[in-house]
Formats: sequence, C-alpha cells, structure tokens
Amino acid sequence: MSVLASILNTQHLGVDDLVTLLSLEDPAELERLYAAAYAVKAREVGKVVYLRGLVEVTNVCVCECRYCGIRAGNPDVERYTIEAEEVLAGARWAWDQGFGSTVLQGGERCDGAFIDYVEGIVAGMHEMSGREIGVTLSLGEQREDTYRRWRRAGAQRYLLRIETTNRELFASIHTDDQSFDQRLECLDRLRSCDYQVGTGVMIGLPGQTAADLARDVLFMRDRDVDMVGMGPFIPHQDTPMADSLGDFEQIKDRQLELGLKMIACVRLALRDVNIASTTALQALGPRGRERGLLAGANILMPNVTDTRFRRGYQLYDGKPGLDEGSEASCRALERSVEAVGETIGYHRRGTSPHYRRRKSGSKSE
Ligand code: SAH
Repeated sequence: MSVLASILNTQHLGVDDLVTLLSLEDPAELERLYAAAYAVKAREVGKVVYLRGLVEVTNVCVCECRYCGIRAGNPDVERYTIEAEEVLAGARWAWDQGFGSTVLQGGERCDGAFIDYVEGIVAGMHEMSGREIGVTLSLGEQREDTYRRWRRAGAQRYLLRIETTNRELFASIHTDDQSFDQRLECLDRLRSCDYQVGTGVMIGLPGQTAADLARDVLFMRDRDVDMVGMGPFIPHQDTPMADSLGDFEQIKDRQLELGLKMIACVRLALRDVNIASTTALQALGPRGRERGLLAGANILMPNVTDTRFRRGYQLYDGKPGLDEGSEASCRALERSVEAVGETIGYHRRGTSPHYRRRKSGSKSE
C-alpha cells in the first residue's frame, strides 16, 4: 500500500501523518485526500449543507490583533453598531428564507451596554422564531457571567478561534495584553456553560509550519470541539501584517490549497463535527466555497448583514460580497451547493452530530 493510502486508512492520525497530508502537492494525491475526507463527511454528517445567516453586528473592537482590519487602532474604519431592531429584522429575513440558524459576529466589546444589547437580540430572535432558531455567537473573549447570560437568553453555540496553537506565533500576531492561556480559559468557560463550542485557526500565517497546523488539528480533536471554522490568512493593508507574506498575489493559490487541505485533515481527524467553508476561502478563488464543501466542509455562512455596513467589516483585503445584496448572495449560494451535488438543509438548525453524541453519551444529560 502506498504511504498516502495507508495514512488515509489510519484510524487515529498523528502529527507526522497530518504533516504528510498537509505537504501534499501532487494534484492526483490532493484529489485522493479530498475524496477521502468527502467520504468521511458523507458518512458522518451527510451531504446536506446547513446555512447560518451571518450578521456582523458591530465593528467596534477593543482588541489590537495585528492581522485584523477592524483592530481598534485602525483609524480608517468608520465604526458602526447595528441597532438591535435592525439586527432582528435581518435575522427574521434569514429565518423567513429558511435559514435555521444565525451567527452574530462582531468586534470584541465587554461593556455592560453591549452585553445587554446582545442578550436582547438573542431573546428577540427566540421570540420571533418560537424558540426554534439556532443562535451562534462569535463575540470574542468574555467573562463567565457574560457567557452564562447569553446562554440563558438562548444562544446555543459559540465560536472562538484559538487562531494558532503555536504559543510564540500567537504572541507574535497579538499584543502583550492578549494571552493564549486566557483564550484557552475562555474555551473552557464556554464548554462549562454548555455551549456547543467551535474553534479554529488562521491558515498560512507567516512563519507557520505544517507541523504547527498538524498540531492545530490535534488540538481541536483533543479539545473535543463540536464545530470548526477556519480559513486562510489574508493580509489587510492597514495592519502591521500587511506585507508579512510578501507579494500576496503570488501565493494566493497556495494559500487556498492549504485551506482546503486543512479542512480535509480536520474532517479525517474529527469526523462528526460541523466544519464551515468560510468566506476567506471564497475570497481566494471564485469556487473557493464549493471546493471547501468538496474537501469536507458542511456549513456555509452567507453574509446577511445589510450591505450598507459591509464596507465597515473588512477583516482582510478583498473580502467578497461587499456590494452583493443578501437576496443575491442566497441565490448564488444555492447555485454553489447544487453545483457540487448537495442540498441545503433549509429550516433546520443543523446541530453538530458530534455535540449530540457527546451529550447523549454523558451521564449528566
Ligand atoms: N471578535 C471576534 C470575531 C473576530 S472576526 C473574536 O475575536 O472572536 C472572526 C475571525 O476572523 C477571527 O477569529 C480571525 O480568525 C479571522 N480574521 C481576522 N483577520 C483576518 C485576516 N486578515 N485574514 C484571515 N482571517 C482573519
């Protein structure tokens, strides 16, 4: 049996196996990797794509992440916070379109007014949907009581990326007051508040090695996460990391490919989790999103933020969908999903099978 075939047959992938997979370059071998991951996806989570309507509620942020276009220190960003009523109207629109689930994402804010604001929106979404809707939050590091309040209001899921598990790399892309251990603690808090927990990393950061990425995959497996959202790093011109990868145009395709390899590796190693095919993939290639599905992802997060706010939420350069109306993005998405021979799970929350198994296996439930 070839080395690749034997790795693809391995039940419990190790660092070296993952490094080999992440280093593949031969197109035929890459296709075998993606096909193997796709087979695991079809078996474990099915060929149904679940939608999460993404609302970027605010770009106000207290953090200075060195990679991020909406970092607090970027003076060229016009700051906005969408009125709660308007967020709810957007969520209702997505619900009426058959999106069973919504993600509220934003910059990081920990002030009381913001905590109340989010709590009110989450409660309003449940009222609007007869408590049927899935609500995911992606609002950064918060205190335990905040996570609890939002959980009680009805948010069931939370996405908080570890960004990278290489501590030195983590330190180099953040500022001194942001700590890796604090991030880990937040992931623990979310778990103890009984969220479905999602994490992820940026792929292709300057100085990041295949071994780093392999360890990222194993981190997600060992942490027993329910959901994964990750995407290639794409530089933003107004950040300290603008030129950190040299001429980005030259490496765009490699960056996309690395993103796809990571999706495949996570699918092979974690099996029954939900994995998002993220906007950053789409930014790197016109079929990035579809290719993500074919490499093992099963979740799409169409942006349903009102178009007038989109320019304010440029995490990286070339973020797609700036002028695209929400209606148009939905139709484009349907076509993408049909093109890969899958269907959209409309009107369904699409809870991660991993979470269900984890809960039914635990004595406390
Ligand atoms: N404030 C929230 C949401 C942050 S934006 C939080 O901290 O969790 C969501 C994700 O966008 C981040 O976790 C990061 O992984 C990603 N991101 C930010 N800047 C990026 C860039 N330049 N390229 C690719 N991804 C980026």
